[in-house]
Amino acid sequence: MKALYGVLIIIEILALGVCALKAEKRRGKLAKIVFCYESVAFLCGIIFAAYTFVPGVFVTTLCKGLTLACFDWLLILLMYYTQYYTGLFHGVRVVKLLMEAYAAIETVMLIVNAWTHHMFSVGEMTGDMIAVEFVKGSFFYQMHFIYSYVLIAILILAYLFMIARASKFYRFRYEVILSALVVGFVLDLLSIHSQSIYDVSMIMFGVMSMLIYYFTFSYVPNELIESTLSLIIRDMNNGIICFDNRGTCVYCNDLVRKLYKVSGRPDVLEQMYWNWLSDSGEKRADLMRFQMPVEEDGKERYYEIVYKRVYDDKNNFVCDCFIFNDRTEEIESLEHEKYRASHDRLTGLLNREQFYLDTSERLHQNPDKKYCIICSNIRDFKFVNELFGIEKGNDILLRQAELMRTHTGAGALCARLQGDRFAVCMEQKAFREEMLFEIVEKIQEEVNNSSFRLHVFAGVYNIQNPKEPVSIMCDKANLASETIKNDYHSSLAYYDDELLKRSIEERRIIGEFERALEQNEFVMFLQPQVDEAGKAYGAEALVRWEHPERGLLSPAVFIDILEKAGLIYKLDRYIWEKAAEKLAEWKKNNAGAYHISVNISTKDFYLVDVYETFTGLVQKYEIDPEMLKLEITETALMSDFKKNMEILKRLQDFGFKIEIDDFGSGYSSLNMLKDISADVLKIDMGFLRASENEVKGKDILESIIVLADKLGMEVITEGVETEKQLSMLTRMGCKMFQGYYFSRPVPVDEFEEKYGIN
Ligand code: C2E
Ligand code: CA
Ligand code: CA
Repeated sequence: MKALYGVLIIIEILALGVCALKAEKRRGKLAKIVFCYESVAFLCGIIFAAYTFVPGVFVTTLCKGLTLACFDWLLILLMYYTQYYTGLFHGVRVVKLLMEAYAAIETVMLIVNAWTHHMFSVGEMTGDMIAVEFVKGSFFYQMHFIYSYVLIAILILAYLFMIARASKFYRFRYEVILSALVVGFVLDLLSIHSQSIYDVSMIMFGVMSMLIYYFTFSYVPNELIESTLSLIIRDMNNGIICFDNRGTCVYCNDLVRKLYKVSGRPDVLEQMYWNWLSDSGEKRADLMRFQMPVEEDGKERYYEIVYKRVYDDKNNFVCDCFIFNDRTEEIESLEHEKYRASHDRLTGLLNREQFYLDTSERLHQNPDKKYCIICSNIRDFKFVNELFGIEKGNDILLRQAELMRTHTGAGALCARLQGDRFAVCMEQKAFREEMLFEIVEKIQEEVNNSSFRLHVFAGVYNIQNPKEPVSIMCDKANLASETIKNDYHSSLAYYDDELLKRSIEERRIIGEFERALEQNEFVMFLQPQVDEAGKAYGAEALVRWEHPERGLLSPAVFIDILEKAGLIYKLDRYIWEKAAEKLAEWKKNNAGAYHISVNISTKDFYLVDVYETFTGLVQKYEIDPEMLKLEITETALMSDFKKNMEILKRLQDFGFKIEIDDFGSGYSSLNMLKDISADVLKIDMGFLRASENEVKGKDILESIIVLADKLGMEVITEGVETEKQLSMLTRMGCKMFQGYYFSRPVPVDEFEEKYGIN
């Protein structure tokens, strides 16, 4: 019996020691309380062992006292443990302090009792019996029991309270601790009154200490795990369905029930599962992801579904599980993002990149259909923004987008390429010019302003090679539109290959121009101007380009291009200088009787200070301004008549002679004569050739000559090719001529040789 009891006590001490050590390693207040509790229980175990097994009355008395003291402390610690665990007994600090103080005093008293026996005394051990005599009248003796029993009662009540209140998952642990407490208490009562040395209540308290350790750190109720998990799963934002090995739906959570409108048995889901199994067939893997649209409250939502085969530890099939993740928001924001990346923010039309992609896809998918690309542009759109404000500008763009959408039909792809540039790709047979004119007209109505007219112009490219990059197709349509940019009466032009050739030529000329100018590839030719007797009195300077690869290029090839590119002023300044230089040379060689007429282009007035340049030249080369005649066409003058007239007037005052070139080819010729102050009118015979009614033309020519004479202006006719023309002009009163009949434009040295200059 003794041996068995001893083994039990040793096991208990060891177990409590382990519990104490383990609790010490844990963190947190609860762990600290448990550590103290386990340590005191461990100590109590050792003392109790000594009490039972170490002989001698003194040791027995001391150990008995100490065990009683340990009980006091264990009860206090149990109270703290219960407080932490149950949340009860908060806020009675003073009472707790008093209890601790009392326990401390009692501990001292119980130790002192070994000598004084004022609380109890122990008799000699007889067999397994030991007589413990309590001093009945002792205050501490009575207090010890009152104190312990009251505390135990409070603890029992606390656990009863918690059992009644706690969730069913936690009830079990309170029930176990309470049972241990009650059993321990009853055993304690019994052992006090028995004289046996084997105090089973001690073992019960030891067991309770271990239970406390277990419930605090190790115990997780299965039911709790299951219930919490199922609660979490039920309320989750993800849907879950599980099917067992016979295809029976063993679980589906609320979301799935809502999605598939399942009430009661989920037969619908089982049917779906079988369909899915037969559909996926061979492709089925243990883990799969796929997407599925599901209608919910009339709105389509997108679910990503993860299919998972679940196996147990031994790799036996458990269930097929489907987890539904709602990806609607992600997909929507992705779509939104995609939309933003592919559409123009302002108008909602396709943007450039998307237009290129969609168009080439459309062409690729319909190789037998014929498509066209229309690109439009608004002239000087930045002025709209400046004059009427950005908002008005935006309104116009929005209006254009709307018109394009409604007028081009469902099959068309409409885009805003950039700024005021729009593009459409549609079938050629669906395109009608009137449709475009209507769009243009309606856009133009947007600006009702007398000082600014909106000019919308578009180019159409009928696609010939669908494999060509769409950007090039747009370039072609734009190229066509550029041809009517300056023509306010046109709003539509078609692309043809000639246009491309011209544009390539333009780029080539512009690209080569600066270098050519630097390397003196431009040369001045002279075409004599003669009197009635055929005697030269001057010449017109006409430029030629001695191109290293293309040979001698006529001005018809490059003048217009350079004018358009705003480069003509560089060439003109160069030729003017050459003319001035030549005049200076002739003057020096006493051949100063010949003048040279130079051409001034419209654009020169914008880009050069014409007055400064010419006066500068005559000063630099010390020539007579009268010898440098300035030819200017009436159209050049018209661009800013008042200002240009003023400049010409100042040049005239300086001594220059002004010639109106190509007189008669413009519209306002006669009317203009009253305001113009020129020295010479230069009439092109081409004007006669072009006129349908030759007789009428001749009459007009004669009138001009007479009129000019009356206004005090000289007249020179150019383009004279035949003797017949010459005699007719002479008869009409013209005294100066220029034309192939006399000489073609020739290099300067040829001219000099012919007229014996130098
Ligand atoms: P333009 O000023 O009217 O020059 C007269 C053009 O008529 C010259 O053509 C000349 O070669 C041509 N021509 C002369 N006699 C006859 C004839 O009997 N019959 C015919 N059919 N044509 C004749 P070109 O040299 O080809 O110059 C063409 C135009 O280029 C010039 O017309 C002028 O507007 C421009 N141009 C020439 N050189 C310059 C220049 O240095 N600066 C500027 N801005 N323009 C120039
Ligand atoms: Ca001329
Ligand atoms: Ca001319």
